[in-house]
Amino acid sequence: MCTNMDSFIESSDDHYDFDFQMQRLQKFNRKLTSKDHFLFSGGEPTLHPRFLSILAEFRKKFQRVPIYLLTNGRKFCYQDFTREVLRLGKTPVDMLVTIHGYNAVTNDSITRSRGSFSQAMLGLENIFKLRRPGQGVEIRMVLHKLTAPWLDRTLLAILKAFPDTAGYRLVLMYFEVEGQAEKNFKRIRLSLGECAARIQECRELLKKFSEVRLYHFPLCILGEDLRPLVWDSLPGEDVCYLKECRSCALKKKCPGVPAWYPKWFDACDIRRVS
Ligand code: SF4
Repeated sequence: MCTNMDSFIESSDDHYDFDFQMQRLQKFNRKLTSKDHFLFSGGEPTLHPRFLSILAEFRKKFQRVPIYLLTNGRKFCYQDFTREVLRLGKTPVDMLVTIHGYNAVTNDSITRSRGSFSQAMLGLENIFKLRRPGQGVEIRMVLHKLTAPWLDRTLLAILKAFPDTAGYRLVLMYFEVEGQAEKNFKRIRLSLGECAARIQECRELLKKFSEVRLYHFPLCILGEDLRPLVWDSLPGEDVCYLKECRSCALKKKCPGVPAWYPKWFDACDIRRVS
């Protein structure tokens, strides 16, 4: 499980500048292990005016380090752009594309951007068509009060559009309270217990996917059948262990509770496993 990431092309103004990115890249001399990768995140990294140059420079300096590109997938609706990203990113590279709903109405109500669903789906099609071995795809869904109710329909839409599930992995991620999510908390509020219950309801559908990962979930919140899907997806400083955890039989294997969680919920759904 990979927990070790370095984020580049962040959305803050300080980090947006091309020269800043290049200086940061030149100074980067930490010894990398086989578990490391670079995460290009944002904002939306593909919208950076010099995104392709930054990607090329990274690949030149770190020829074998995996690059993960967290994207809304929209710009990949242009085949020329997709071809160029895949050419410059070489391998290993993974495209992490987030889908929020099962059609334009549901998805675009979350992104608040008309056309985002059709562009992202076309983007995924282009990536599947143009990629080569070593270039992976992850389809992500962030679960909260608005998206969890249509989880089953979104899974069905993904299966219908991309039936060869061996060609990608599916990630269901519990939402994080930061930035916009903090402002919209009342609208998207969903406890870990409620979110886990929704995933349990969809477990038969999940079996249709070749690889499923659950991010940001402590083990006790899920039934035993789903616990093997949990990944250690947050850095150590972003998780906590509660009083309940002290005597929990799963503590050694458990990735912990998102650190923000006890501030926003009473955390009564976190229960030690004996
Ligand atoms: S009680 Fe704590 S250590 Fe045990 S599974 Fe839950 S969160 Fe993890």
